[in-house]
Amino acid sequence: MAMWESDTLSTPALTNEATGANNLGDHPASEPSETSEAARILTPEYTEDDLGLDRSLRPQSLEEYLGQTRVKENLDVLIAAARKRGEVLDHILFSGPPGLGKTTLASVVAHELGSSLKATSGPAIERAGDLAAILSNLEKGDVLFIDEIHRLNRSVEEVLYPAMEDFVLDIIIGKGPAARSLRLEIPPFTLIGATTRTGLLTGPLRDRFGMAFRLDYYSPTELHDIVVRSANLLDVEIDAQGAGEIARRSRGTPRLANRLLKRVRDFAEVRGCGSINEDTAAEALSFFEVDNLGLDAMDNKILELLTSSFCGRPVGLTTLASALGEDADTVEDVYEPYLLQQGLLQRTPKGRVATERAFEHCGIPYPKTNDTKE
Ligand code: ADP
Repeated sequence: MAMWESDTLSTPALTNEATGANNLGDHPASEPSETSEAARILTPEYTEDDLGLDRSLRPQSLEEYLGQTRVKENLDVLIAAARKRGEVLDHILFSGPPGLGKTTLASVVAHELGSSLKATSGPAIERAGDLAAILSNLEKGDVLFIDEIHRLNRSVEEVLYPAMEDFVLDIIIGKGPAARSLRLEIPPFTLIGATTRTGLLTGPLRDRFGMAFRLDYYSPTELHDIVVRSANLLDVEIDAQGAGEIARRSRGTPRLANRLLKRVRDFAEVRGCGSINEDTAAEALSFFEVDNLGLDAMDNKILELLTSSFCGRPVGLTTLASALGEDADTVEDVYEPYLLQQGLLQRTPKGRVATERAFEHCGIPYPKTNDTKE
């Protein structure tokens, strides 16, 4: 039985409408990242650049939430069914890369249910008592959102199991031989967990979610619609080609589309006439070193090293990292995924290899005797 001691109750890192605190304008209970990665305009992580922007652009309803059609259709049916039966919605897990709309979707679900949303994140809940305090303050039908749920520590996670399954908290009163256990009922609620790393979720936690949805990268058409919607909200004039240009360079990620829109708007105000067309967008994005495939200076440096300096030969991760002056983990976790996804780079047992598409992108002839095949 998972238990926590009753005297460990403390004020948890909860952000909600009632407290007037975060209200999901910002990522729940999280500070903008200040790593060197965050300095990249193209980091999909939440950064200082997104402060305020997230707040003003976040969709409220399923109708405003663009793309992710399959997930939305499923949620629409499930929410309608739960409302019709007057029952709480089953617990839901959203997974997928940062910036794709997991936090947004959690607030949309709460809005569609007509419920209030309490938001926190895995790292913000340090002790079992913190989570117990959050859970015992919920009201019937509330939606509790836990971002980065894979980062909950084990003792906190164990409090969640009976709460998710039976809406109860197991607590210990007193200490030592006089300690006794008590089972407290809590109001039925819906837990929405979000994770960028499903693989790091423990089996018992994953099994307790009634539904799990993986969010995919957005198509350029979906991102185009998101850019147009955001431009309207920001009162920026933009034509379809301008929106298309931003969409194409946004790496399938709404957060990046919004961030690039904001940068292009600033550029257009200072260097242009304020409105955005294809030329302004292209000029602004080149100025910010975001190229036509959505690659930035670092991505291009990786490709140049592989195609030009190493002439297309396989390169070990540590060699590549030292040539870039970065650590190997950053290269692997931050830079490579998009290059892999775009078919510009391959990971082979002999090392990292630039693909034919990468040579084409760098304007270097593809070597006929390329040692990329295993
Ligand atoms: P995640 O939680 O997956 O990191 P967020 O939910 O914080 O991503 O989304 C980042 C920003 O992108 C939000 O502020 C929102 O404005 C925008 N956004 C995300 N998904 C959508 C969508 N489907 N439609 C419109 N805007 C979206």
